[in-house]
Amino acid sequence: CGIVGYIGYHEAAPICTNGLLSLEYRGYDSFGIATLAPSLSVYKHLGKISDAKTSASHLTGTIGIGHTRWATHGVPSEINAHPHLDEAGKIAVVHNGIIENYAELKRGLEERGVVFTSQTDTEVIPHLIAEKYSGNLFEAVSGIIPLLEGSYALLILAEGEEKIVAVRKGSPLVLGIGDQEFILGSDALPLLEYTRNAVYFEDGDIAEIGRGEYRIHNTGVPVSREITEIEWSG
Ligand code: GLU
Repeated sequence: CGIVGYIGYHEAAPICTNGLLSLEYRGYDSFGIATLAPSLSVYKHLGKISDAKTSASHLTGTIGIGHTRWATHGVPSEINAHPHLDEAGKIAVVHNGIIENYAELKRGLEERGVVFTSQTDTEVIPHLIAEKYSGNLFEAVSGIIPLLEGSYALLILAEGEEKIVAVRKGSPLVLGIGDQEFILGSDALPLLEYTRNAVYFEDGDIAEIGRGEYRIHNTGVPVSREITEIEWSG
C-alpha cells in the first residue's frame, strides 16, 4: 500500500502512475488516481498498476493523487479502491492505514442521511470533510482530524481549490520540494526523479501544498520542518 501526490506544471496522472509503480513493492490489490482540472476526475482499477499507463491517460490536470490499496476493511474491488469521494463528488481522499473508530463514525453519518458506496473504513473521511466544508479544505480537514482514531496518511483534493491537503499520523509521508512543483509519497522513491529535497512529516502534521508554496500545522499551530537531503544509492 502506498500513496503519491503531485502539484506543479506537468500532467499529474502519469507522474502519479509512475509513483505508484515505484511503491508497488509495498504490496497492493488495487489502485486509483484522481486529478483536478479544475473538476475532479477519478480512475480506479482492480489489478496491475502497469495497466494505468494507458487507461488513466484520459485524466488531465496538473494536480493529482494516487493510491495502491492493501485492503483492511472491505474486499479488494473497484468500488473499495481509493480515492473515495463525498456524495457530491467534490472531495477526494486517498488513505493508508486504518480508521479504528470508523464504525461509530459511519453510524453517525448514516443517521444524518449520508449514503455510503463502499465497505471501507476510509469512506467516512470524505463525508466528514464534506459536512464541515465551506470553501477552505485545510480548515475542514483540521476540523475533523480530532475525530479520527487509528493510523493514517491522507492526501485530499477539493474541487475549486488548487492545492493538496496532506495529513500524517502513524503512517509515513514525505513531501518532495522541487522547482515550482511538489511531489508526495509514502516513501522517498516516487520523489527521486524530481528532487532530493524532502520534508518528512511528523505525527499530527497537517499540510497545505499549493502552487509554489506550502505550510504545515500541528495541533492548530504553524510549525516548520527541516528540509533534508534524500540519501539514495539505488
Ligand atoms: N484501510 C483502508 C482500506 O482498507 C486503507 C488500506 C491501505 O492502507 O491501503 O481501504
